[in-house]
Amino acid sequence: MTFKTVSGEGLGNEPSSIEIDGLTFTRYGDDRLREECGVFGIFNHPDAAAIAALGLHALQHRGQEACGIVSYDGRQFHSERRMGLVGENFSRADVLARLKGRMAIGHNRYSTTGEAMIRNVQPLFADIDTGGFAVAHNGNLTNALTLRRELISSGAICQSTSDTEVILHLLSRSKKRRVVERLVDAIRQVEGSYALVCLTNDVMIAARDPIGIRPLVIGRLGVSYVVASETCALDMVGAEFLREVENGEVVVITDQGLESHRPFPKRPARPCIFEYIYFARPDSIVGGRTVYDIRKQMGIQLACEAPANADVIVPIPDSGVPAAIGFSQESGIPFELGIIRNHYVGRTFIEPEQRIRQLGVKLKHSANSSVIRGNSIVLVDDSVVRGTTSKKIVQLMYEAGAREVHMRISSPPITHPDFYGIDTPRKQDLLAANLDLEGMRQFMGADSLAFLSVNGIYRAVGVEARDPRAPQFTDHCFTGEYPTELTDQSGESLPKQLSLLAEVG
Ligand code: AMP
Repeated sequence: MTFKTVSGEGLGNEPSSIEIDGLTFTRYGDDRLREECGVFGIFNHPDAAAIAALGLHALQHRGQEACGIVSYDGRQFHSERRMGLVGENFSRADVLARLKGRMAIGHNRYSTTGEAMIRNVQPLFADIDTGGFAVAHNGNLTNALTLRRELISSGAICQSTSDTEVILHLLSRSKKRRVVERLVDAIRQVEGSYALVCLTNDVMIAARDPIGIRPLVIGRLGVSYVVASETCALDMVGAEFLREVENGEVVVITDQGLESHRPFPKRPARPCIFEYIYFARPDSIVGGRTVYDIRKQMGIQLACEAPANADVIVPIPDSGVPAAIGFSQESGIPFELGIIRNHYVGRTFIEPEQRIRQLGVKLKHSANSSVIRGNSIVLVDDSVVRGTTSKKIVQLMYEAGAREVHMRISSPPITHPDFYGIDTPRKQDLLAANLDLEGMRQFMGADSLAFLSVNGIYRAVGVEARDPRAPQFTDHCFTGEYPTELTDQSGESLPKQLSLLAEVG
Protein backbone atom coordinates (compact mmCIF):
# COMPACT_ATOMS: atom_id res chain seq x y z
CA MET A 1 0.00 0.00 0.00
CA THR A 2 1.37 3.43 -0.89
CA PHE A 3 0.49 6.30 1.38
CA LYS A 4 1.09 9.93 0.50
CA THR A 5 0.05 13.29 1.93
CA VAL A 6 -1.71 15.26 -0.77
CA SER A 7 -2.60 18.58 0.81
CA GLY A 8 -2.66 20.27 4.17
CA GLU A 9 -4.59 23.37 3.31
CA GLY A 10 -6.31 25.00 6.24
CA LEU A 11 -5.62 22.21 8.63
CA GLY A 12 -2.48 23.24 10.43
CA ASN A 13 -0.07 20.39 10.50
CA GLU A 14 -2.38 17.58 9.58
CA PRO A 15 -3.12 16.66 5.97
CA SER A 16 -6.64 17.35 4.80
CA SER A 17 -6.20 14.76 2.09
CA ILE A 18 -4.15 11.62 1.82
CA GLU A 19 -3.61 9.30 -1.07
CA ILE A 20 -3.75 5.56 -0.52
CA ASP A 21 -3.02 3.27 -3.42
CA GLY A 22 -3.73 6.06 -5.88
CA LEU A 23 -7.11 7.01 -4.35
CA THR A 24 -7.53 10.35 -2.63
CA PHE A 25 -9.17 10.36 0.79
CA THR A 26 -10.17 13.53 2.58
CA ARG A 27 -10.59 13.86 6.30
CA TYR A 28 -14.30 13.69 6.99
CA GLY A 29 -16.08 16.91 7.70
CA ASP A 30 -13.48 19.38 6.55
CA ASP A 31 -16.03 21.41 4.63
CA ARG A 32 -18.19 21.81 7.70
CA LEU A 33 -18.42 24.47 10.29
CA ARG A 34 -16.59 23.73 13.45
CA GLU A 35 -18.51 23.94 16.65
CA GLU A 36 -17.72 26.21 19.47
CA CYS A 37 -16.36 25.23 22.84
CA GLY A 38 -17.59 23.80 26.10
CA VAL A 39 -16.29 24.78 29.55
CA PHE A 40 -16.64 23.13 32.92
CA GLY A 41 -15.43 23.77 36.46
CA ILE A 42 -15.77 22.00 39.80
CA PHE A 43 -14.88 23.55 43.15
CA ASN A 44 -14.31 21.61 46.33
CA HIS A 45 -14.73 17.97 45.38
CA PRO A 46 -12.44 15.05 46.26
CA ASP A 47 -12.69 13.69 42.70
CA ALA A 48 -12.56 17.06 40.94
CA ALA A 49 -10.72 15.88 37.81
CA ALA A 50 -12.96 12.83 37.31
CA ILE A 51 -16.06 15.02 37.68
CA ALA A 52 -14.59 17.52 35.22
CA ALA A 53 -13.98 14.70 32.74
CA LEU A 54 -17.61 13.58 33.04
CA GLY A 55 -18.85 17.14 32.61
CA LEU A 56 -16.71 17.62 29.52
CA HIS A 57 -17.98 14.35 28.13
CA ALA A 58 -21.54 15.71 28.37
CA LEU A 59 -20.35 18.82 26.51
CA GLN A 60 -18.56 16.86 23.81
CA HIS A 61 -21.00 18.10 21.15
CA ARG A 62 -19.53 21.62 21.59
CA GLY A 63 -16.09 20.63 20.39
CA GLN A 64 -14.53 17.35 19.45
CA GLU A 65 -11.00 18.03 18.45
CA ALA A 66 -9.21 18.78 21.70
CA CYS A 67 -9.83 18.81 25.42
CA GLY A 68 -8.01 19.67 28.60
CA ILE A 69 -8.26 19.77 32.37
CA VAL A 70 -6.28 21.85 34.87
CA SER A 71 -6.53 21.06 38.58
CA TYR A 72 -5.10 22.59 41.73
CA ASP A 73 -4.19 20.57 44.78
CA GLY A 74 -3.53 23.36 47.26
CA ARG A 75 0.17 23.48 46.43
CA GLN A 76 0.48 22.93 42.73
CA PHE A 77 -1.43 23.16 39.45
CA HIS A 78 -1.64 20.11 37.19
CA SER A 79 -2.48 20.26 33.51
CA GLU A 80 -3.39 17.66 30.89
CA ARG A 81 -4.25 18.92 27.43
CA ARG A 82 -4.86 16.53 24.60
CA MET A 83 -6.03 16.29 21.01
CA GLY A 84 -9.14 14.15 20.57
CA LEU A 85 -12.24 13.25 22.51
CA VAL A 86 -12.72 13.40 26.27
CA GLY A 87 -13.45 9.68 26.53
CA GLU A 88 -10.29 8.79 24.67
CA ASN A 89 -8.14 10.97 26.89
CA PHE A 90 -9.68 11.24 30.33
CA SER A 91 -11.10 7.81 31.02
CA ARG A 92 -7.67 6.51 32.00
CA ALA A 93 -6.99 6.24 35.73
CA ASP A 94 -3.34 7.27 35.37
CA VAL A 95 -4.27 10.51 33.59
CA LEU A 96 -6.90 11.38 36.18
CA ALA A 97 -4.53 10.45 39.02
CA ARG A 98 -2.09 13.09 37.80
CA LEU A 99 -4.80 15.75 38.04
CA LYS A 100 -4.76 16.01 41.81
CA GLY A 101 -6.78 18.39 43.89
CA ARG A 102 -10.28 19.46 44.88
CA MET A 103 -10.69 22.05 42.14
CA ALA A 104 -10.52 21.58 38.40
CA ILE A 105 -11.57 23.35 35.23
CA GLY A 106 -11.84 21.84 31.78
CA HIS A 107 -12.42 22.73 28.17
CA ASN A 108 -13.57 21.06 24.95
CA ARG A 109 -12.81 22.69 21.71
CA TYR A 110 -12.42 22.44 18.03
CA SER A 111 -8.97 23.25 16.83
CA THR A 112 -6.52 22.23 14.26
CA THR A 113 -5.07 18.80 14.73
CA GLY A 114 -1.37 18.15 15.11
CA GLU A 115 0.97 18.13 18.05
CA ALA A 116 2.40 21.55 17.37
CA MET A 117 -0.93 23.16 18.03
CA ILE A 118 -1.40 21.55 21.41
CA ARG A 119 -0.28 24.87 22.80
CA ASN A 120 -3.65 26.29 21.75
CA VAL A 121 -5.58 23.65 23.68
CA GLN A 122 -7.23 25.00 26.81
CA PRO A 123 -7.33 25.57 29.74
CA LEU A 124 -4.47 28.02 29.30
CA PHE A 125 -2.31 28.55 32.37
CA ALA A 126 0.01 31.33 33.49
CA ASP A 127 2.01 32.15 36.59
CA ILE A 128 1.36 35.76 37.48
CA ASP A 129 2.34 37.65 40.59
CA THR A 130 -0.90 36.78 42.39
CA GLY A 131 -0.16 33.07 41.80
CA GLY A 132 -1.27 30.55 39.19
CA PHE A 133 -4.18 31.35 36.89
CA ALA A 134 -5.89 28.94 34.51
CA VAL A 135 -8.66 29.91 32.10
CA ALA A 136 -11.13 28.04 29.90
CA HIS A 137 -12.99 30.19 27.37
CA ASN A 138 -16.03 29.63 25.21
CA GLY A 139 -16.51 32.40 22.68
CA ASN A 140 -14.35 34.62 20.55
CA LEU A 141 -12.87 38.04 21.22
CA THR A 142 -13.42 40.43 18.35
CA ASN A 143 -10.52 42.73 19.24
CA ALA A 144 -8.02 40.00 20.17
CA LEU A 145 -5.79 40.56 17.16
CA THR A 146 -5.62 44.28 17.79
CA LEU A 147 -4.83 43.76 21.48
CA ARG A 148 -2.34 41.05 20.68
CA ARG A 149 -0.50 43.31 18.28
CA GLU A 150 -0.28 46.01 20.96
CA LEU A 151 0.86 43.48 23.57
CA ILE A 152 3.55 42.07 21.33
CA SER A 153 4.84 45.49 20.37
CA SER A 154 5.17 46.31 24.06
CA GLY A 155 7.22 43.20 24.71
CA ALA A 156 4.76 40.39 25.41
CA ILE A 157 5.79 36.90 24.38
CA CYS A 158 2.78 34.93 23.18
CA GLN A 159 2.75 31.20 23.71
CA SER A 160 -0.29 30.40 21.59
CA THR A 161 -2.33 31.82 18.75
CA SER A 162 -5.49 31.71 20.81
CA ASP A 163 -7.49 34.86 21.51
CA THR A 164 -7.86 33.65 25.11
CA GLU A 165 -4.20 34.22 25.81
CA VAL A 166 -4.81 37.95 25.48
CA ILE A 167 -6.88 37.76 28.67
CA LEU A 168 -3.93 36.26 30.55
CA HIS A 169 -1.61 39.02 29.37
CA LEU A 170 -4.03 41.78 30.31
CA LEU A 171 -4.57 40.17 33.71
CA SER A 172 -0.87 39.89 34.33
CA ARG A 173 -0.28 43.54 33.45
CA SER A 174 -3.10 44.87 35.61
CA LYS A 175 -1.97 46.97 38.56
CA LYS A 176 -4.88 45.82 40.72
CA ARG A 177 -4.16 43.80 43.84
CA ARG A 178 -6.82 41.08 43.91
CA VAL A 179 -7.00 38.55 41.14
CA VAL A 180 -10.70 39.13 40.54
CA GLU A 181 -10.07 42.87 40.12
CA ARG A 182 -7.35 42.03 37.63
CA LEU A 183 -9.70 39.79 35.68
CA VAL A 184 -12.27 42.59 35.62
CA ASP A 185 -9.54 44.95 34.38
CA ALA A 186 -8.77 42.47 31.62
CA ILE A 187 -12.30 41.77 30.46
CA ARG A 188 -13.10 45.47 30.39
CA GLN A 189 -10.58 45.74 27.58
CA VAL A 190 -11.87 42.92 25.43
CA GLU A 191 -14.80 42.84 23.00
CA GLY A 192 -16.80 39.96 21.67
CA SER A 193 -18.10 36.90 23.42
CA TYR A 194 -16.80 35.05 26.42
CA ALA A 195 -18.05 32.55 28.93
CA LEU A 196 -15.05 31.97 31.17
CA VAL A 197 -14.20 29.56 33.93
CA CYS A 198 -10.97 30.42 35.75
CA LEU A 199 -9.00 28.71 38.48
CA THR A 200 -6.63 30.40 40.89
CA ASN A 201 -4.83 29.25 44.03
CA ASP A 202 -7.91 29.72 46.15
CA VAL A 203 -10.98 30.56 44.10
CA MET A 204 -12.81 29.60 40.93
CA ILE A 205 -14.25 32.43 38.82
CA ALA A 206 -17.04 32.31 36.25
CA ALA A 207 -17.64 35.29 33.96
CA ARG A 208 -19.92 36.13 31.06
CA ASP A 209 -19.60 38.96 28.56
CA PRO A 210 -21.78 42.06 29.01
CA ILE A 211 -24.60 40.75 26.79
CA GLY A 212 -24.18 37.04 27.63
CA ILE A 213 -23.68 35.76 24.08
CA ARG A 214 -22.48 32.30 25.12
CA PRO A 215 -24.24 30.34 27.88
CA LEU A 216 -22.88 29.56 31.36
CA VAL A 217 -24.63 27.99 34.34
CA ILE A 218 -23.85 27.27 37.98
CA GLY A 219 -24.87 24.12 39.84
CA ARG A 220 -24.47 22.55 43.24
CA LEU A 221 -23.23 19.06 43.95
CA GLY A 222 -23.40 18.50 47.71
CA VAL A 223 -20.88 20.95 49.15
CA SER A 224 -19.28 21.49 45.74
CA TYR A 225 -20.03 24.12 43.11
CA VAL A 226 -20.10 23.34 39.41
CA VAL A 227 -19.89 25.74 36.46
CA ALA A 228 -20.74 24.53 32.95
CA SER A 229 -21.63 25.73 29.48
CA GLU A 230 -24.89 23.79 29.57
CA THR A 231 -27.17 22.15 32.10
CA CYS A 232 -26.67 18.75 30.42
CA ALA A 233 -23.22 18.72 32.08
CA LEU A 234 -24.81 19.35 35.49
CA ASP A 235 -27.20 16.46 34.86
CA MET A 236 -24.31 14.22 33.90
CA VAL A 237 -22.53 14.71 37.24
CA GLY A 238 -25.71 14.74 39.33
CA ALA A 239 -25.48 18.44 40.17
CA GLU A 240 -28.51 20.56 40.85
CA PHE A 241 -29.03 23.64 38.67
CA LEU A 242 -28.68 26.80 40.76
CA ARG A 243 -28.80 29.60 38.21
CA GLU A 244 -27.23 31.05 35.10
CA VAL A 245 -24.23 33.32 35.33
CA GLU A 246 -25.89 36.53 34.18
CA ASN A 247 -24.73 38.69 31.33
CA GLY A 248 -21.92 40.95 32.51
CA GLU A 249 -21.59 39.06 35.78
CA VAL A 250 -18.39 37.81 37.40
CA VAL A 251 -19.03 35.14 40.03
CA VAL A 252 -16.27 34.27 42.47
CA ILE A 253 -16.64 30.85 44.06
CA THR A 254 -14.89 30.55 47.41
CA ASP A 255 -15.09 28.26 50.45
CA GLN A 256 -17.70 30.69 51.78
CA GLY A 257 -19.98 30.45 48.72
CA LEU A 258 -20.74 32.65 45.71
CA GLU A 259 -19.70 36.29 45.44
CA SER A 260 -21.27 38.24 42.57
CA HIS A 261 -19.61 41.22 40.88
CA ARG A 262 -21.18 43.48 38.25
CA PRO A 263 -18.33 45.37 36.67
CA PHE A 264 -20.24 46.59 33.61
CA PRO A 265 -23.09 49.07 33.22
CA LYS A 266 -26.33 47.09 33.13
CA ARG A 267 -27.43 46.10 29.63
CA PRO A 268 -30.12 43.77 28.36
CA ALA A 269 -28.89 40.25 27.65
CA ARG A 270 -28.57 39.14 24.02
CA PRO A 271 -27.80 35.44 24.07
CA CYS A 272 -26.93 33.76 20.79
CA ILE A 273 -30.02 32.34 19.13
CA PHE A 274 -27.95 29.65 17.42
CA GLU A 275 -27.65 27.83 20.74
CA TYR A 276 -31.33 27.00 20.34
CA ILE A 277 -31.06 26.15 16.68
CA TYR A 278 -28.02 23.91 16.63
CA PHE A 279 -25.33 24.14 19.31
CA ALA A 280 -26.86 23.25 22.64
CA ARG A 281 -27.81 19.69 23.43
CA PRO A 282 -31.58 19.18 23.17
CA ASP A 283 -31.86 18.14 26.83
CA SER A 284 -30.17 21.33 28.07
CA ILE A 285 -32.12 24.22 29.52
CA VAL A 286 -30.82 27.49 28.10
CA GLY A 287 -32.24 30.79 29.31
CA GLY A 288 -34.98 28.91 31.16
CA ARG A 289 -36.12 27.09 28.02
CA THR A 290 -35.64 23.43 27.17
CA VAL A 291 -33.77 23.34 23.90
CA TYR A 292 -35.73 20.31 22.67
CA ASP A 293 -39.05 22.11 23.15
CA ILE A 294 -37.79 25.18 21.33
CA ARG A 295 -36.57 23.09 18.39
CA LYS A 296 -39.95 21.39 18.17
CA GLN A 297 -41.58 24.82 18.25
CA MET A 298 -39.35 25.87 15.36
CA GLY A 299 -40.78 22.94 13.39
CA ILE A 300 -44.31 23.94 14.35
CA GLN A 301 -43.71 27.52 13.23
CA LEU A 302 -42.16 26.27 10.02
CA ALA A 303 -45.18 24.07 9.25
CA CYS A 304 -47.42 27.13 9.75
CA GLU A 305 -45.26 29.42 7.62
CA ALA A 306 -44.37 26.98 4.84
CA PRO A 307 -46.76 24.03 4.69
CA ALA A 308 -46.14 21.27 2.18
CA ASN A 309 -48.39 18.68 0.67
CA ALA A 310 -46.51 15.44 1.31
CA ASP A 311 -46.75 11.85 2.49
CA VAL A 312 -44.01 11.81 5.11
CA ILE A 313 -41.86 14.14 7.20
CA VAL A 314 -38.23 13.01 7.27
CA PRO A 315 -35.61 14.63 9.54
CA ILE A 316 -31.97 15.00 8.59
CA PRO A 317 -30.50 13.30 11.65
CA ASP A 318 -29.62 14.16 14.29
CA SER A 319 -30.05 17.89 14.52
CA GLY A 320 -33.17 18.05 12.32
CA VAL A 321 -35.14 15.57 14.43
CA PRO A 322 -36.93 17.80 16.99
CA ALA A 323 -38.02 20.32 14.32
CA ALA A 324 -39.29 17.49 12.11
CA ILE A 325 -41.36 16.15 15.02
CA GLY A 326 -42.85 19.63 15.44
CA PHE A 327 -43.53 19.91 11.70
CA SER A 328 -45.23 16.54 11.74
CA GLN A 329 -47.36 17.36 14.77
CA GLU A 330 -48.51 20.65 13.29
CA SER A 331 -49.14 19.36 9.77
CA GLY A 332 -50.58 15.97 10.71
CA ILE A 333 -48.23 14.34 8.18
CA PRO A 334 -46.55 11.22 9.61
CA PHE A 335 -42.97 11.43 10.90
CA GLU A 336 -40.68 8.70 9.62
CA LEU A 337 -36.99 7.97 9.94
CA GLY A 338 -36.24 8.04 6.24
CA ILE A 339 -32.54 8.67 6.76
CA ILE A 340 -30.32 6.56 8.95
CA ARG A 341 -27.18 8.15 10.29
CA ASN A 342 -24.08 6.13 10.87
CA HIS A 343 -22.88 7.22 14.30
CA TYR A 344 -19.53 5.57 13.92
CA VAL A 345 -18.38 8.10 11.35
CA GLY A 346 -16.32 10.44 13.47
CA ARG A 347 -14.28 13.44 12.55
CA THR A 348 -11.24 11.26 12.20
CA PHE A 349 -12.86 9.12 9.56
CA ILE A 350 -11.76 9.65 6.03
CA GLU A 351 -14.32 10.16 3.35
CA PRO A 352 -13.62 8.48 0.05
CA GLU A 353 -13.37 10.92 -2.75
CA GLN A 354 -13.51 10.79 -6.51
CA ARG A 355 -13.62 7.19 -7.75
CA ILE A 356 -15.00 5.67 -4.56
CA ARG A 357 -17.52 8.46 -4.08
CA GLN A 358 -18.71 7.85 -7.59
CA LEU A 359 -19.47 4.29 -6.58
CA GLY A 360 -22.05 5.79 -4.28
CA VAL A 361 -20.55 5.12 -0.88
CA LYS A 362 -22.65 6.96 1.67
CA LEU A 363 -20.65 7.18 4.81
CA LYS A 364 -22.74 9.27 7.08
CA HIS A 365 -26.33 9.14 5.86
CA SER A 366 -28.23 6.29 4.24
CA ALA A 367 -31.73 6.33 2.83
CA ASN A 368 -34.29 4.09 4.46
CA SER A 369 -35.83 3.24 1.10
CA SER A 370 -39.00 1.59 2.38
CA VAL A 371 -40.06 4.96 3.79
CA ILE A 372 -38.97 6.98 0.79
CA ARG A 373 -39.90 5.01 -2.33
CA GLY A 374 -42.83 6.48 -4.26
CA ASN A 375 -43.49 9.12 -1.61
CA SER A 376 -43.53 12.87 -1.53
CA ILE A 377 -41.10 13.83 1.24
CA VAL A 378 -40.69 16.87 3.46
CA LEU A 379 -37.03 16.92 4.49
CA VAL A 380 -36.38 18.93 7.65
CA ASP A 381 -32.99 20.23 8.79
CA ASP A 382 -32.07 22.86 11.36
CA SER A 383 -29.84 25.03 9.19
CA VAL A 384 -28.11 25.51 5.87
CA VAL A 385 -24.57 26.79 5.87
CA ARG A 386 -22.82 25.93 2.61
CA GLY A 387 -25.67 23.78 1.40
CA THR A 388 -23.52 20.67 1.16
CA THR A 389 -25.68 18.51 3.42
CA SER A 390 -29.00 19.53 1.86
CA LYS A 391 -27.75 18.98 -1.66
CA LYS A 392 -26.37 15.52 -0.84
CA ILE A 393 -29.49 14.42 0.98
CA VAL A 394 -31.96 15.67 -1.60
CA GLN A 395 -30.07 13.60 -4.15
CA LEU A 396 -30.08 10.62 -1.79
CA MET A 397 -33.86 10.87 -1.51
CA TYR A 398 -34.34 10.83 -5.27
CA GLU A 399 -31.99 7.89 -5.64
CA ALA A 400 -34.10 6.06 -3.05
CA GLY A 401 -37.20 6.64 -5.17
CA ALA A 402 -38.75 9.80 -3.71
CA ARG A 403 -41.46 11.27 -5.92
CA GLU A 404 -41.03 14.81 -4.63
CA VAL A 405 -38.63 16.36 -2.14
CA HIS A 406 -39.63 19.50 -0.25
CA MET A 407 -36.81 20.99 1.79
CA ARG A 408 -37.76 22.83 4.97
CA ILE A 409 -35.18 24.54 7.17
CA SER A 410 -36.11 25.43 10.75
CA SER A 411 -34.00 28.61 10.85
CA PRO A 412 -33.61 31.61 8.54
CA PRO A 413 -31.00 31.73 5.75
CA ILE A 414 -27.48 32.29 7.16
CA THR A 415 -26.27 35.31 5.27
CA HIS A 416 -23.52 36.62 7.55
CA PRO A 417 -20.43 35.11 9.15
CA ASP A 418 -20.07 34.73 12.89
CA PHE A 419 -17.27 36.27 14.93
CA TYR A 420 -18.30 35.00 18.35
CA GLY A 421 -16.88 31.52 18.47
CA ILE A 422 -18.45 29.66 15.59
CA ASP A 423 -15.88 29.17 12.91
CA THR A 424 -18.29 30.00 10.08
CA PRO A 425 -17.04 30.09 6.55
CA ARG A 426 -16.32 33.31 4.81
CA LYS A 427 -19.33 35.14 3.44
CA GLN A 428 -18.62 33.93 -0.06
CA ASP A 429 -19.00 30.32 1.15
CA LEU A 430 -22.39 30.82 2.76
CA LEU A 431 -25.03 29.56 0.36
CA ALA A 432 -27.65 32.11 1.36
CA ALA A 433 -25.19 34.99 1.02
CA ASN A 434 -24.75 34.18 -2.63
CA LEU A 435 -28.04 32.81 -3.94
CA ASP A 436 -31.66 33.84 -3.61
CA LEU A 437 -34.30 31.32 -2.55
CA GLU A 438 -34.89 30.03 -6.06
CA GLY A 439 -31.13 29.79 -6.67
CA MET A 440 -30.73 27.76 -3.48
CA ARG A 441 -33.62 25.49 -4.44
CA GLN A 442 -32.01 24.80 -7.78
CA PHE A 443 -28.63 24.21 -6.16
CA MET A 444 -30.16 21.63 -3.82
CA GLY A 445 -32.30 20.13 -6.56
CA ALA A 446 -35.42 20.12 -4.38
CA ASP A 447 -39.00 20.56 -5.60
CA SER A 448 -39.53 23.33 -3.08
CA LEU A 449 -37.50 25.09 -0.40
CA ALA A 450 -38.49 27.24 2.54
CA PHE A 451 -36.76 28.66 5.62
CA LEU A 452 -38.27 29.73 8.91
CA SER A 453 -38.52 33.52 9.14
CA VAL A 454 -36.56 35.55 11.68
CA ASN A 455 -39.78 36.34 13.52
CA GLY A 456 -40.69 32.66 13.35
CA ILE A 457 -37.51 31.87 15.28
CA TYR A 458 -38.36 34.51 17.86
CA ARG A 459 -41.88 33.13 18.19
CA ALA A 460 -40.45 29.65 18.70
CA VAL A 461 -38.37 30.85 21.64
CA GLY A 462 -41.45 32.47 23.11
CA VAL A 463 -40.92 36.10 22.07
CA GLU A 464 -43.73 37.69 20.10
CA ALA A 465 -41.47 39.40 17.56
CA ARG A 466 -37.92 40.63 17.12
CA ASP A 467 -37.59 44.15 18.46
CA PRO A 468 -35.65 45.91 15.67
CA ARG A 469 -34.48 48.66 18.05
CA ALA A 470 -33.34 46.27 20.77
CA PRO A 471 -33.19 42.70 19.47
CA GLN A 472 -33.64 40.20 22.26
CA PHE A 473 -31.07 37.77 20.87
CA THR A 474 -27.79 37.79 19.04
CA ASP A 475 -28.94 36.89 15.53
CA HIS A 476 -26.29 38.44 13.26
CA CYS A 477 -26.01 35.24 11.16
CA PHE A 478 -29.47 36.01 9.79
CA THR A 479 -29.69 39.78 10.10
CA GLY A 480 -26.12 41.00 9.73
CA GLU A 481 -26.58 43.02 12.90
CA TYR A 482 -23.57 42.40 15.13
CA PRO A 483 -24.13 43.25 18.79
CA THR A 484 -20.53 44.21 19.64
CA GLU A 485 -17.70 46.12 18.11
CA LEU A 486 -15.75 44.12 15.51
CA THR A 487 -12.48 45.97 15.89
CA ASP A 488 -10.36 43.30 14.25
CA GLN A 489 -12.55 43.39 11.16
CA SER A 490 -11.72 47.03 10.51
CA GLY A 491 -7.95 46.57 10.68
CA GLU A 492 -6.71 46.63 7.12
CA SER A 493 -3.90 44.12 7.21
CA LEU A 494 -5.36 41.89 9.86
CA PRO A 495 -6.70 38.44 9.16
CA LYS A 496 -10.46 38.63 9.45
CA GLN A 497 -10.79 36.39 12.48
CA LEU A 498 -8.18 35.23 14.95
CA SER A 499 -7.96 31.84 13.41
CA LEU A 500 -7.12 28.93 15.61
CA LEU A 501 -6.41 27.02 12.46
CA ALA A 502 -3.59 29.25 11.34
CA GLU A 503 -0.49 30.65 12.91
CA VAL A 504 -0.78 34.37 13.48
CA GLY A 505 2.22 36.72 13.22
P1 AMP B 1 -24.00 22.71 5.30
O1 AMP B 1 -23.96 21.29 4.88
O2 AMP B 1 -22.67 23.41 5.11
O3 AMP B 1 -25.14 23.49 4.69
O4 AMP B 1 -24.24 22.74 6.87
C1 AMP B 1 -25.53 22.52 7.39
C2 AMP B 1 -25.53 21.32 8.25
O5 AMP B 1 -24.53 21.45 9.24
C3 AMP B 1 -26.85 21.14 8.96
O6 AMP B 1 -27.18 19.76 8.89
C4 AMP B 1 -26.58 21.55 10.39
O7 AMP B 1 -27.21 20.69 11.31
C5 AMP B 1 -25.10 21.45 10.54
N1 AMP B 1 -24.50 22.59 11.24
C6 AMP B 1 -24.98 23.81 11.44
N2 AMP B 1 -24.11 24.57 12.14
C7 AMP B 1 -23.03 23.78 12.37
C8 AMP B 1 -21.76 23.95 13.05
N3 AMP B 1 -21.44 25.10 13.64
N4 AMP B 1 -20.90 22.91 13.08
C9 AMP B 1 -21.19 21.74 12.47
N5 AMP B 1 -22.36 21.51 11.83
C10 AMP B 1 -23.27 22.51 11.77
